[in-house]
Amino acid sequence: MADIVTRFAPSPTGFMHIGNLRTALYSYLVSKSQGGKFILRIEDTDQVRLVEGAVDVILDTLKVTGIEYDGEPYIQSERLDIYKEYAQKLIDSGNAYYCFCTPERLESLKNDKGIGGYDGHCRNLPPDEIAKNLAEGKPYVIRQKMPDTGTTSYDDVVYGKVEIDNSELRDQIMIKADGFPTYNFCHVVDDYLMGVTHVVRGNEYLTSTPKYCLLYDAFGWERPTYVHLPLLMGKDENGNISKLAKRHGAVSFQDLVRDGYLPEAIVNYIALLGWCPKNTNQEFFTMDELKTEFSIEGLSKSPAVFDYEKLKWFNSEYIKKMPVDQYQQKALPVLDELCADYINKTKLAELLHTRISYFGEIPEQIQFVTTRPPMSTDLYTNKKNKTTPEICREILTEVLPLLESAEDWSNDTLFAVLKEYAVSHGKKAGAVMWAVRIAIGRQAVTPGGATELMEVFGKGESIERLKLAISELV
Ligand code: GLU
Repeated sequence: MADIVTRFAPSPTGFMHIGNLRTALYSYLVSKSQGGKFILRIEDTDQVRLVEGAVDVILDTLKVTGIEYDGEPYIQSERLDIYKEYAQKLIDSGNAYYCFCTPERLESLKNDKGIGGYDGHCRNLPPDEIAKNLAEGKPYVIRQKMPDTGTTSYDDVVYGKVEIDNSELRDQIMIKADGFPTYNFCHVVDDYLMGVTHVVRGNEYLTSTPKYCLLYDAFGWERPTYVHLPLLMGKDENGNISKLAKRHGAVSFQDLVRDGYLPEAIVNYIALLGWCPKNTNQEFFTMDELKTEFSIEGLSKSPAVFDYEKLKWFNSEYIKKMPVDQYQQKALPVLDELCADYINKTKLAELLHTRISYFGEIPEQIQFVTTRPPMSTDLYTNKKNKTTPEICREILTEVLPLLESAEDWSNDTLFAVLKEYAVSHGKKAGAVMWAVRIAIGRQAVTPGGATELMEVFGKGESIERLKLAISELV
């Protein structure tokens, strides 16, 4: 088989929808799993939709996710002459024609719902009329001449046979009045010229692809293999699913990263949204492993539902596996911004390492550090440790002077002080730890135990919290 060439052909819209990223990933994997080439093509011919900086977003996303394209990216707006040349070829062969219809005329073809296609008015203009119009400089578009009988079909790798009656096909515009080509035309020319063997893209193009096949046929080119991917869906509040959109949660790669998701976790998760490895239940994949394991046969046509909880789970596993220095590098800036100077941020980060599912969760998780939550003395009651508010009051009152005179405020020393107190005063260690942890943390569940929290808070704040707790227990 000839070498595989796939491509990612994003329109620069300013952000990378997670569905687009998955398309890029699958396209990359279709090629790389077979030792092929993967190219990047920026589809920026729709001048109205251009967004500044959008190309950088695309390049940056691919870089961060490790989706590496071969060679330099192609930029469609730099290739306008090529599209004109190929449009001319189709005019010459009778597969395309000049259309001089005015916008007003086209408007009049629409019904009251604003729907209505082109009626083929200029399909058979006499050559001298065309020449005259061109000489007069009349604005024109170039349209593809569709056959009006028969059917066109192709075999999609994921969806199987797709067939359409040619009578349903409108003579679509190839070159617009401003000289820019439409996506419908120029992507076909480019895919051919760039040697693309497998077109991997979202299934919104599934039913327009017969039109593209007709272009290949008109040029006498071999059609590529089509691999259309099911849409990414989100779950609505009522349990229904619909196209993944903002109301479901963050939908761009940038937003997910901003929320504190790791690129590798995002890639791993979306790799499994519509593809299933054969012969393995493996869930964690590096990009290299994906390149080896991926195969087109594992693609599914059922709509894939983006599950934010599942992504969180993947991400928490990736965070746990992060080397400590890398993890600290990401966690510390967040803690630095939120916490007072006396907080031991490195220790706090350590406590959070196995407890956060994404970095954006940190502010909520450490609210009990950045503020003193209102105390409910019920928290001191604990069955297992046999504590009550009264018992805790006694413990706290007795440990306070011991802690005040502690020379070193490390977890180990603090632990030793409390342990020794428990032994010498005939108290259960669990009860002592419970009382102190609640007094310091002021909430039922905390990352870390009593002495770890005291180490995080430092001596000053810890003693203050203990005193406050005692006063609340009166
Ligand atoms: N520019 C198109 C898009 O972003 C590309 C579709 C394709 O891959 O052919 O939807």
